[in-house]
Amino acid sequence: MFYVPINIESVYNIGYTDEMNSNNKKFKLKLILGITTISLLGLLVVYVVGNTVVRQILYESAYSEEYITAYVTRSLRIISLSFAGVLLALNILTIILMSLITRNMEEIRVAEERLRVIINASPLACWILDETFEITEVNNEAVRLFGLKDSKDYIEHFANLSPEHQPDGRLSRDRIMELQTKCFVEGSVHFEWMHQTLGSKEEIPCEVHIKLFESSNKKYIICFARDLREIKRTFDMVHQLETAAYTDALTGASNRRYLDKTAAEEINSCMNEKKPLSMLMFDVDFFKKVNDTHGHQVGDEVLKILVSRIRHALKKGTVITRFGGEEFIATLPGSSIAIAIKTAERVRTAVERTPFKIKDLKVPVTISVGVTSLREDNTSLHTLVAEADEALYKAKQTGRNKVAFYEP
Ligand code: GH3
Ligand code: MG
Ligand code: MG
Repeated sequence: MFYVPINIESVYNIGYTDEMNSNNKKFKLKLILGITTISLLGLLVVYVVGNTVVRQILYESAYSEEYITAYVTRSLRIISLSFAGVLLALNILTIILMSLITRNMEEIRVAEERLRVIINASPLACWILDETFEITEVNNEAVRLFGLKDSKDYIEHFANLSPEHQPDGRLSRDRIMELQTKCFVEGSVHFEWMHQTLGSKEEIPCEVHIKLFESSNKKYIICFARDLREIKRTFDMVHQLETAAYTDALTGASNRRYLDKTAAEEINSCMNEKKPLSMLMFDVDFFKKVNDTHGHQVGDEVLKILVSRIRHALKKGTVITRFGGEEFIATLPGSSIAIAIKTAERVRTAVERTPFKIKDLKVPVTISVGVTSLREDNTSLHTLVAEADEALYKAKQTGRNKVAFYEP
């Protein structure tokens, strides 16, 4: 597990609600100033009209000078107070409304901050796209995984964080658009993706989950990518260990453990499908003499070349097992006894045809082969091996460098 430090400030785009908040404050100030200015202007107009027009009208009437002055002054006072009242009420209303909006903004800001903490705490690489496929958030793990300077770097180089083609041969940019569009339609998509680091272009096989979500009536896609390199390395290691556990170290043929594991399956499958199955057992003739004449090391080389010759003479993919020191077994699913005898003959001649070349030596090698086939009464690996061994013994007894088959 990776340790991901929580660092909200490093997230690109942080504080866009702060910006909205400060815009909000400026707007509130402008609104109050606007209302006050308009009201004062209105008051000025009323004063001018009151003092000139109204006074003029009243002068033309029969009212005395004192009465007119007292009337106009009283009226203007009432109007001024009313204006002041309305002005105060409007400004109070503005302050209340703007405070509500600000509180709402604060709640959104806290929610956003919380989201950033969560995505930054994620051990998975994570980023968020909006409806126009623009990246709005990137977490620290994405920055670390792709070897970037910061989250802004991620946004700038987004297209370079995948190789041009995906392992299936398709263009990454076409495929990514297709998957993102699919996510907008289906709500979520899960797929494997080949990423790459920015600098060294090291390929990063990833498992990606993308999910649609809505916030403030806008749609976004949140993407999580899991680095599969470690898992794949472990998987490869397990595979190598398994292969080693089933392989003979000297010749590269499979070992008896593998024969035990696979032969029963092959026998069962051929029985169920009513197909024939044959077994060949090879043994090097006078191998002790090879060791005695040329040494054990040359003997080892002979065994390696022998396996290679047997492999070339058999159908591709046939499993060859080192059964003992210089004894090998091949099972031939689908081959009748007649075909198996022909195959054994082919292998025998392939070994005999040319001496084995080891450094400056040319070592003539021959093999004897015992052949048997699956019948109703010999359906176990154990009996097949015993019959092949009996046939091999017959080949040895009748002169070696021979193929002999088991007769029930
Ligand atoms: P035959 O024709 O009757 O099979 O005679 P052979 O000499 O081949 O048979 P034998 O069983 O007498 O000798 C087999 C020899 O194989 C004895 C042993 O030292 C040798 N051998 C077994 N495993 C290895 C190995 O891994 N490397 C080498 N160089 N020799 C081995
Ligand atoms: Mg031998
Ligand atoms: Mg032997």
